[in-house]
Amino acid sequence: MSASLLQRSLSAVWHPCTQMKQHETLPLIAITRGEGPWLLAEGGQRYLDAVSSWWVNLFGHCNAHINQRLREQMETLEHVILAGFTHEPVVRLSEELAALTGHALGHAFYASDGASATEIALKMSVHYWRNCGRPAKTRFVSLAGSYHGETVGALAVTDIALFREAYAPLVRAAATVVSPDARAVESGESARNVAIRAAAALEAFLAEHHTETAALIVEPLVQCATGMAMYDPEYLRRARVLCDQYEVHLIADEIAVGCGRTGKFFAMEHSGTWPDFLCLSKGISGGYLPLSLVLTTDTVYQAFYADEVARGFLHSHSYTGNALACTAALATLEIFRDDDVLAANEQRARWLARAAEPIAAHPAVRHLRQQGMILAFDVDATPGFARRFHAHALAEGLLLRPIGNTVYWMPPYVLDEAQCAWLGARTLSALEKALAE
Ligand SMILES: *Cc1c(COP(=O)(O)O)cnc(C)c1O
Repeated sequence: MSASLLQRSLSAVWHPCTQMKQHETLPLIAITRGEGPWLLAEGGQRYLDAVSSWWVNLFGHCNAHINQRLREQMETLEHVILAGFTHEPVVRLSEELAALTGHALGHAFYASDGASATEIALKMSVHYWRNCGRPAKTRFVSLAGSYHGETVGALAVTDIALFREAYAPLVRAAATVVSPDARAVESGESARNVAIRAAAALEAFLAEHHTETAALIVEPLVQCATGMAMYDPEYLRRARVLCDQYEVHLIADEIAVGCGRTGKFFAMEHSGTWPDFLCLSKGISGGYLPLSLVLTTDTVYQAFYADEVARGFLHSHSYTGNALACTAALATLEIFRDDDVLAANEQRARWLARAAEPIAAHPAVRHLRQQGMILAFDVDATPGFARRFHAHALAEGLLLRPIGNTVYWMPPYVLDEAQCAWLGARTLSALEKALAE
């Protein structure tokens, strides 16, 4: 049965982010159950889901509380059109998220995936400036190495060479400015110095291009997809000031770093400032259902509020504000409150740091870094390291997918001390085997 399911998958399912031919040598894994941080495979193997199934799962698989809330919601209302209609879960979720921003961002617009949230923020920004009589502001600027999704509009602000090259003819590429990546420290410098230098480069860009620039889009504190590039929050403080000064929106893409990942609920909280647009997805539904949203300010909202249809925001998705997805998100926020998750994660992050100490001491390991529940390190290794490491990690019972030569942990918020230590030991073992091969 196992072989046939894998064969059927290979012939009928086109898997994401995958050169399908590689599955001639690396077999697919059929998962039959999820239990907390564990994935149970058809052959009986267990894998610790140390990447939260692409950064979405916060409280383990088959979480009893989210399951219960979804069952209740399913019996009353699964989905209803959100144009002209509303429902309790979408209203409550919007109110609770607004409250989490101290009502700085009190208006929520919904979609189903992260890339769509990026596109909504970009479109809203340009349309805002148009409504304000500034139609020339139609360009964007992002950080070197940025990742904001893979639809054609989101690719415009995504600076990943592989994607840029393949789809260049489709994309109206944004400008990029230097990243505040703390690995650029020179001797005697701190991460804050790097951030200040990068902010100076941003200022030079804005001084020249502000009349045609609608928005700066950033991944606050951690540029995840480029390889967990971490930076000092001083960059965000300065970017906020510069964006105000040059009348450019600040878009915070918190699709990966929101929902407690960096130690606070929103990564922007580390900077003490708010963006004009904040994108959320991935963890917001606890990893259960596709849901994304953009939070924005009253100033932006009011610029669209008018008699003319064309001044309104022209955007919709079929599943906008899906009642089940919003319920999963509400259940997720309940767990944050009831279990004081942010406080528990402080302890959990220390367990992860301790578990990584022997890894940091390995001679091939550089730049071991951590921001809350994300821990990463770079490896001096020969080409093909990521695939070799991934295969050895699976053999150790770990789901880990390095990005190039960067290995990272982004586990669900349920690991106990022993599981953190186990994760550390197995990662080191996979590392040694991948380097020896
Ligand atoms: C994953 C991700 C996206 C895209 O989300 P999808 O749901 O995959 O479209 C956008 N921005 C960031 C920072 C992400 O990590």
